[in-house]
Amino acid sequence: MAARLVIFGRQGAGKGTQCEFLTRHYGAVHISTGDMLRAAAASGSELGIRAKSFMDAGQLLPDDVMVGVVQERLAASDVTDQGFLLDGFPRTVPQAEALCALVEVDLAVNLDVAEEVVRDRMLARGRTDDTPEIIGERLAAYSAQTVPTIAWFAAQGRLVTVDGVGEPTEVSARLVAAIDGRLGQ
Ligand code: AMP
Repeated sequence: MAARLVIFGRQGAGKGTQCEFLTRHYGAVHISTGDMLRAAAASGSELGIRAKSFMDAGQLLPDDVMVGVVQERLAASDVTDQGFLLDGFPRTVPQAEALCALVEVDLAVNLDVAEEVVRDRMLARGRTDDTPEIIGERLAAYSAQTVPTIAWFAAQGRLVTVDGVGEPTEVSARLVAAIDGRLGQ
């Protein structure tokens, strides 16, 4: 069965590593809206030029723009054949409502790492785009908009929360146990 999953997690929660693992494990297509927008910005497309100013400020793009981007990607045959792991979308309740009107989502997974922990990790990385201000902006957007989106899936009985602290292999095992437990595999 093609899995249709959404993954939530703060930046710095190890979501990239776990997405690589999960897409291999379930054979699903990894759809990262951040990667798509960064590729668009690098190509200099109209979307990319618009996206860059939001991304540089750590702010979210408008919902209608993001829904359009994701809708197009979800319609491609690799995704309809193999299922998907959506990473970075939805980030707001209107995006979640739009997504679930477009496709069936089996389960949302919350890779949970506390805000203080990811803040320290990101500051320790010391990347030039990770200034304390931008990190603060991203975490504030996550608390204000994405935490309520996670609650939206929970209210529908379609959320599992997995502790994201630990060795990557340990966290991967927890994710598979939680997902398979809920999808009845
Ligand atoms: P990410 O790599 O997922 O953290 O995304 C990088 C940046 O792209 C975010 O900080 C936002 O500016 C933008 N972005 C990615 N996905 C979305 C989304 N679903 N809604 C709004 N903005 C997004």
